Amino acid sequence: MKNLIDKLAEKHILSKEEFELLIQNKNKETEEYLFSKARETAILHYGKDIYIRGITEFTNYCKNNCHYCGIRLSNFNAHRYRLTKEQILQCCDAAYILGFRTFVLQGGEDIYFTDERIVDIIKDIKRKYSDCAVTLSIGEKSYASYKAYFDAGANRYLLRHETANESLYAKLHPANQLLSIRKQCLYDLKDIGYQVGAGFMVGAPFQTVENIAQDLLFLHELQPEMVGIGPFIPQHDTSFADEKPGTVELTVFLLGIIRLMLPSVLLPATTALGTIHPRGRELGILAGANVIMPNISPQNVRKDYMLYDNKIGTKDDAEESLQVLKEQVKNIGYRIVVARGDYKL
Ligand code: SAH
Repeated sequence: MKNLIDKLAEKHILSKEEFELLIQNKNKETEEYLFSKARETAILHYGKDIYIRGITEFTNYCKNNCHYCGIRLSNFNAHRYRLTKEQILQCCDAAYILGFRTFVLQGGEDIYFTDERIVDIIKDIKRKYSDCAVTLSIGEKSYASYKAYFDAGANRYLLRHETANESLYAKLHPANQLLSIRKQCLYDLKDIGYQVGAGFMVGAPFQTVENIAQDLLFLHELQPEMVGIGPFIPQHDTSFADEKPGTVELTVFLLGIIRLMLPSVLLPATTALGTIHPRGRELGILAGANVIMPNISPQNVRKDYMLYDNKIGTKDDAEESLQVLKEQVKNIGYRIVVARGDYKL
């Protein structure tokens, strides 16, 4: 398997069969080899800097019904909330003082937040913090909407493709949600000029190794600036409540593969990875990740943005938990920096 890892490091692509082989034959030895190459690659592009992004989860209203997600439309047990523009700005104010220079606005697809309202929020954030990047993660929109947000000053957009396989996509989503639309959105975002993030859940129900290889090939085709992957974690009010979660081992292995395939990609060690393992985010960094995205939402709403069970950070104090994170990152030889952390070629 070392030859496949060498080939990936050199050519930045493998065939579908080769990806499958590499994943199927994962063992302690290949893991170590892959991770050391992935770390080398990350360090070559970004040094030992770890970028932080402050996420404000500004609404958990959603018109969609993704089967895996805790804030899906038909979860009537979800306690719904939305933040005001003033509350969102307060999150940014507090986060700026702590050293955040990227603000991520994430939410369900909430029709209350019209383009006009989103544009207004983006403009206000950028007016106040012209040295910061604004990242949106608010789902599928028209080209014109994406363009309006971009013109208002948004810099980046996170929209996981969730799976590149049509039939798996159909098992994870209701019939009115289509992979073709999801992909079109990603291409539109690229065309407009955003730094774009795609990605998928590791160990989603029904997902096969072949499906994962297809995800990798799709990512290679898209060439996104960011890739978000994390383990699937069941949420008790969804139909996937009794499904098995994804594993730390496979998630970090895939982080290593993605680092070698897209050498300068911005790659977060996600909250979901930190949720299934107490050292998940450190393990992610040691496998080639270079971004961490702490929650900066107001304390009282965090427990309501429950995409999956036991999500970490719902009781944390932002300042304290950032301090802990800084220590953890330092202990493995890296450092959290105060920077926008844009994509580098
Ligand atoms: N509405 C936005 C944000 C979605 S939430 C959008 O459509 O992009 C962000 C990501 O959380 C999703 O893309 C999904 O991959 C992940 N997610 C949702 N439910 C999850 C679960 N049960 N386990 C792990 N990740 C989950």
